[in-house]
Amino acid sequence: MVKMVNRCLPNWRHTLQKKNRPEIVIKGIPAAPGIAIGSAFLMDQQDFIVPERLIFDDEIPVEIARFEEAVAHTKEEIQLIKEKISAQVGSMDAQIFDAHLLVLEDCMLIDEVKKHIKAEKYSAECVFSRVLKRYVEVFARIQDDYIKERSADVEDVGRRVLKHLMGESRTHDFDQLTGEIIIVAHDISPSDAVTMYNKKILGFVTDVGGRTAHTAIIAKSLGVPAVLGLKDATLRIDNQDAIIIDGRKGVVIVNPSEDTVELYRQERDKIVAYEGSLENLQDSPSETQDGRRIVLMANFEMDGEIPAVKKYRAEGIGLYRTEFFYMNRLDLPTEEEQYRTYKRIAEEMAPNPVIIRTLDLGGDKFLSSIQLPKEMTPFLGSRAIRLCLEEQEIFRTQLRAIVRASAHGNVAMMYPMIAGPGELRAANVILKAVKQRLREKSVPFNENMPVGVMIEVPAAAMTADLLAKECNFFSIGTNDLIQYTLAVDRTNEKMAQFYEPGHPAVLRLIRRTISAAHDANIKVSLCGEMASDPTLAVVLLGLGLDSFSMSPASIPAIKRAVRSIRFSDAQELARQALRLSTGQEVEEFMVSELTKLAPDIYNYDGRKK
Ligand code: PEP
Ligand code: MG
Repeated sequence: MVKMVNRCLPNWRHTLQKKNRPEIVIKGIPAAPGIAIGSAFLMDQQDFIVPERLIFDDEIPVEIARFEEAVAHTKEEIQLIKEKISAQVGSMDAQIFDAHLLVLEDCMLIDEVKKHIKAEKYSAECVFSRVLKRYVEVFARIQDDYIKERSADVEDVGRRVLKHLMGESRTHDFDQLTGEIIIVAHDISPSDAVTMYNKKILGFVTDVGGRTAHTAIIAKSLGVPAVLGLKDATLRIDNQDAIIIDGRKGVVIVNPSEDTVELYRQERDKIVAYEGSLENLQDSPSETQDGRRIVLMANFEMDGEIPAVKKYRAEGIGLYRTEFFYMNRLDLPTEEEQYRTYKRIAEEMAPNPVIIRTLDLGGDKFLSSIQLPKEMTPFLGSRAIRLCLEEQEIFRTQLRAIVRASAHGNVAMMYPMIAGPGELRAANVILKAVKQRLREKSVPFNENMPVGVMIEVPAAAMTADLLAKECNFFSIGTNDLIQYTLAVDRTNEKMAQFYEPGHPAVLRLIRRTISAAHDANIKVSLCGEMASDPTLAVVLLGLGLDSFSMSPASIPAIKRAVRSIRFSDAQELARQALRLSTGQEVEEFMVSELTKLAPDIYNYDGRKK
């Protein structure tokens, strides 16, 4: 049985969750716009889905070692939290973590798990979650309030251990979600975020993450606000706390007063009215005042987004992030399954194009079905095209599906994270072989399917003239281009101030890419989050970009920006912006000029963003 601790110990959560707690305001990174008013749902306090995985005899010591390591990591983590709470609210409140540490030192629990791993030959997480469940049930049945409460400690600790055991592959069960919920988590993996589709989720709040972390991207595609990088939101917000999030300003308000709630309701109504006014633009062309047409397309992660893509009149899918199709499953999607999906989407969008990006795994996107070795710096490691060139069978399967889908609608394909012509050629060799096999089997496909390159590594921008000779189009991925150019991890909230889309180095690489593309007579699009910032969109427009791709809900605001300006003015502004020395100067210059020239570009109350 788990050892007991002194009954006088306070439960820190209840200590902090005082009735009539004052309103607190926490500042984070504004990652997806909008206002949400709801109730906090602390994700790290919810259950994971633990897959049943049988193991071979020779894996037994590995699983036991993994379990011991997870327990050791959990102890370190709890110790750190204890110190933090102790510094913030006093050592009495922090003592509850001693109870958590005692759970992890309980030899009976630990030994039982090891014994069952050996006897039953299931993975460590599978055995541990079963043993844990039994413990919690026993505690819950005991007719003593204090002991009953301890079952919550066991559960809490158990979740922490499971989190370490399952790492990136853990997913939550969100099917039970009801009510107006705002997810609060230390981090939300892209695969968790995907499972939140069609659930009643009003917004996201996380301790870590930056503006272009994939969690932020998914929040935008779900059309909900997100404030990320709040550092210790999960310690300051309790389950079911009333919270307001303002995704434009990056603010979270916990326990808001009635006056604050009313104020934010009014703000929310203004935003809704502003968005309504943009809907009037839906059937107007995306054209500057002097007649330059700019194609506005949608970024697309999963099926649920098609209605939004249509609603906002996207002129195609400019970036189909296929890796989301591979997430939250224990197997890999087959060629047939992928083919049918790509075909259906191509047909839905026809005659508009669908640009399917080949698998971009690694970085902050991982799968349960492919166990990748942990890397020190995953964004600089085996990611995207590199991984596909290593795992050629997975790549070939996807290429076959895309090439077959090209027989329908208007399909194009592009490779992510190409660093130069060498990788492009290596990928094209595989593509050529795939096409040859299909030809031999008389499988129909479009022999002229355009093949493009994402420009998201500085090396690609610097060799854009060479790449342009060997592909049909470019799509600039600024989320990565910025991180690799400025050496700033896009997911690291502590680096957010250095993540500058308007930095002269970034703008020069973009300018270089656009002119290399145009010199070679190919089109160039931009599909990073920068495309949905109306201020910077004008710079990009002035630099000669042919099309933009963004989360569907961002399209109306960018269309408004395009329609409020003359192309010749945008060119002049871009020329001047490129002479400035810092990203901040560029932003300030553009905001000040556009406020005079085209104030319509800005939000409902005339303020930027
Ligand atoms: C990018 O890097 O800008 C991009 C669009 O790709 P992703 O955000 O999926 O890495
Ligand atoms: Mg990218």
